[in-house]
Amino acid sequence: MTTYLWNPPAVQSLPVRGKAERLPINRLFFVGRNYHAHAVEMGKPVDKSVERPFYFTKAPQTLTASGATVAYPPETKNFHFEMELVLVIGAPGFRVKAEAAHQLIYGYAAGLDMTRRDLQLAARDKGRPWDLGKDVEQSSVCGEIVAMPGVVIEQGEIALAVNGVRKQQSNVDKLIWNIREIVADLSLFYHLQPGDLIYTGTPEGVGAVVPGDHITGHVAGVGEVALTIGAAA
Ligand code: MN
Repeated sequence: MTTYLWNPPAVQSLPVRGKAERLPINRLFFVGRNYHAHAVEMGKPVDKSVERPFYFTKAPQTLTASGATVAYPPETKNFHFEMELVLVIGAPGFRVKAEAAHQLIYGYAAGLDMTRRDLQLAARDKGRPWDLGKDVEQSSVCGEIVAMPGVVIEQGEIALAVNGVRKQQSNVDKLIWNIREIVADLSLFYHLQPGDLIYTGTPEGVGAVVPGDHITGHVAGVGEVALTIGAAA
């Protein structure tokens, strides 16, 4: 039996609707600039005919359950919400064809990719890694997972409100790279594994929150996500 110097970190996991067992999380992948209107608001329009999708990752330890209150994070003055459809991988796959991508899908959830926007943009503009802007403690918020094995979501409203005021409203049918294309492309770089989450990108309307704000979001046909911003850490 292996012994450790101290207790190893806990396995990250999420609840699954209607099941007693929790889903153990492996890695957290995020697609960048995957809705045209959001790419434009970031000042970086996407031309799919000549570009490929790109990704960043966050540590699984950043995962936070929907409904939590999180401290306003340190070293930022511009903490942003990004509402996203989260794809849950349920079977291993490498170099998967788009036509076979559904075989890897376990289900979906509604999620938030919380971002220190000031640090992300400073890093972007200096050609530095995005980690300090994106790999923020408690920033990968995810709602209850809905098991939908083999289902490829192609449309459905995606929306977010802060304190009840609508900030983001779009449709998953506006994804630049759709679910099949994301799974196929990401699997060229990584051996996808059960428990990998892929945050598929945010629509336009991202913005800042302050302590005391309450975020609610939903993806039609999938579920809801909520987060409260607490006092600064
Ligand atoms: Mn995002």
